[in-house]
Amino acid sequence: MKTIVTRALPAVLLLAVLWAWRTGGEVPNVGLVSPVYAAPAETLETYTLAPGQTLGGVLSRALSANDQRDFLLAFQEQESPRRLREGTEVTLRWSTSEPRALRGVDVALDADETVRLRRGGAGWQATRVRTPVRVDTVFASGRIASSLWNAVVANEALSELSPADRARLIDALDKIFQWQIDFVRQIREGDAYRFAYELEIRPDGTMRSGRVLAAELVNAGRSYHALYFDPNGDGRGTYYDLDGKSVRRAFLKSPIAFRYRISSRFSNGRFHPILKRWRAHRGVDFAANAGTPVMATGDGVVVRRGRAGNYGNLVEIRHPNGFTTRYAHLSRFARGVSVGSRVKQGETIGYVGATGLATGPHLHYELRLRDQARDPLSIELPAGDPVPRDRWEEWEAQLMPRLALLDRAPRLSPEPARRADGEADGLD
Ligand SMILES: [Zn+2]
Repeated sequence: MKTIVTRALPAVLLLAVLWAWRTGGEVPNVGLVSPVYAAPAETLETYTLAPGQTLGGVLSRALSANDQRDFLLAFQEQESPRRLREGTEVTLRWSTSEPRALRGVDVALDADETVRLRRGGAGWQATRVRTPVRVDTVFASGRIASSLWNAVVANEALSELSPADRARLIDALDKIFQWQIDFVRQIREGDAYRFAYELEIRPDGTMRSGRVLAAELVNAGRSYHALYFDPNGDGRGTYYDLDGKSVRRAFLKSPIAFRYRISSRFSNGRFHPILKRWRAHRGVDFAANAGTPVMATGDGVVVRRGRAGNYGNLVEIRHPNGFTTRYAHLSRFARGVSVGSRVKQGETIGYVGATGLATGPHLHYELRLRDQARDPLSIELPAGDPVPRDRWEEWEAQLMPRLALLDRAPRLSPEPARRADGEADGLD
């Protein structure tokens, strides 16, 4: 496929002339305006690689054999030409002045990255260019009637987001508040949320990714805040409450994301369905489909991985401060997880199964402190690091602007307002 576009002379020049004429030739008092130069006009030809077509195949019409070799060498410094797939867009930039010459080539690797080649004095030079994005902030709020998922999906303020982007947003909110609220068990009718969400929008209108800048969740009348702050300035910030305390905890509440049901709680005595006798249950059972990923609930080192009697396939992780966690009945282990492996909170370590003594697929999860089993659902978990002291001033300076972002989302009324026509309207 081939399309040709001739770029017109910049209209800026014409506007500048019109402006001078309208203002009677006087220069408005807005400071010095740098002169506008017209870029040499170009003709663009865009090719889409057909099945089996190579970059060389497209270029053979435009470049001599020597020039093509030079071009491909430059290209290879950024990307292997063999990795280009069918459908890749290749744009040739021709000068319109005679003699017509190929001045540059853009090869779009995907929606976010392009290898840009330009012909200079020393031959072809290639650079990798990230597609520029426009950053927008989306504000939304609403009430929850059944689940955060349904509420956000039905929020009209978010209608411009694709279903995949909404799913990402819900996942982000779930990850932020997972230590404060169990979205499966604790969310109740009348709970409310508001947030400011940063969206990166590509020139073609599709979206790249987003980050929640500030969020508030009201659960059972209690308000939880999470404000983004990047203490190290490396783009990997985290969330803090209004007092600068981390919203993170050393352990996740659940080793399974979203789709699970707690089928058996921690207890000191329960009737065992297979053994037909009373036994203590020193963990929590999460019923989920076989194959559902199981996450390490905290950072640590794997100290056991393998078959362990009634536990079936078991992973045990040692964490700081005397904690250990156990994950039992796994169908299989995640790749790369072995005794001695370091694992991060949220990392997949295995998959739900029914190995060992199990009536059906579920995860038996234990949290132990100094080798004493504790109830992972009720234990007070150690918090993550607060805002570092040497960054406190910066945090305080950002606090009000972040909160102001939340105020741009429509306010939440204190009374639960039930709507018959949907989960949430975002407009209370
Ligand atoms: Zn169990």
